Amino acid sequence: MCGGPAVTVVRYAKLRLCREHFIEFIQGRVLRCIERYGLIEGGWRVLVAVSGGKDSVTLLHILSVISRRLGFNVLALHLDLGIPDYSRKAREVVESFCRGLEVPLIVVDLKELLGVGLPELVVRGRRPACSLCGLLKRYLINVVGVEARANVVVLGHHLDDLLTYVMKNFLLQKLNEISKLGPKTESEGPLIGRVRPLYEISEGETSLYVSIQGLPVVDTVCPYKVVGSIEGEVRKFLDSIEGRNPGIKIALARGIAKNIEFYRVRSESNVGACRYCGMPTSDDVCAFCKFTEKVLGSPMGPVVRGKIKEVLNRQQL
Ligand code: SF4
Ligand code: ZN
Repeated sequence: MCGGPAVTVVRYAKLRLCREHFIEFIQGRVLRCIERYGLIEGGWRVLVAVSGGKDSVTLLHILSVISRRLGFNVLALHLDLGIPDYSRKAREVVESFCRGLEVPLIVVDLKELLGVGLPELVVRGRRPACSLCGLLKRYLINVVGVEARANVVVLGHHLDDLLTYVMKNFLLQKLNEISKLGPKTESEGPLIGRVRPLYEISEGETSLYVSIQGLPVVDTVCPYKVVGSIEGEVRKFLDSIEGRNPGIKIALARGIAKNIEFYRVRSESNVGACRYCGMPTSDDVCAFCKFTEKVLGSPMGPVVRGKIKEVLNRQQL
């Protein structure tokens, strides 16, 4: 583009790019992804979930740039899961990063809400850590979204993660799960919609973006992280096809987005409100209240909603 020294070759676009042009290229692709799939509109309040890993850090950085151009407001959310060492480091990274970007940050601390962190809940609930973590994250993100009156929740899932999950679910014929892996999941009643602006950005591109921008990321891995064997195999398979056919991953992602309705299984059950906390559920009681009632003795949804409201009021958000 400019004759300067290239830092990378983008094979699917047949480009060699210098530092500045790579940054501009990635930001431009995220912007076009937002426009192509109608993910965010001007005037919206968007809640960005930031773990402190390279994907969510890249996402928040790019959105803080794009938000000025498109005219939306960014609010960051970090969940402190109370995992020794890892959660403290992740929280420090996110707090200092948001301060630097001047983006308001809401920190939801699991120990403050429930009196115990994820490790203790895993032991008491006898449930795999990542499955429990997923339940807690879904609930807490939704509560903050509702209480902060956000128009949408923004997630840092990138192309490689999404395609891996799509292929895995296809192999296991869990077709309805594929319908949740497109660039956006529409809001359903009081359930706030989710969008994924890194839908067409690869993991390698997020790594390069944080390194050449010098962005802070948490340097330890969650001790519960396990890469399943199917995921690892699928990832290798996708990488090898991409190696011989640059651009095929993006083409596949666009095809999935186009056909997303094809995978959706219409559910007969209606989304109602949890008897305890009022959050959306297709049952009488939501999964969070059920779990906390079982392991902590009472459904904690109402307490958690009250405490999150207090946090937001304190920060005038
Ligand atoms: Fe949660 Fe599992 Fe990710 Fe750790 S690795 S943050 S437990 S989902
Ligand atoms: Zn509930």
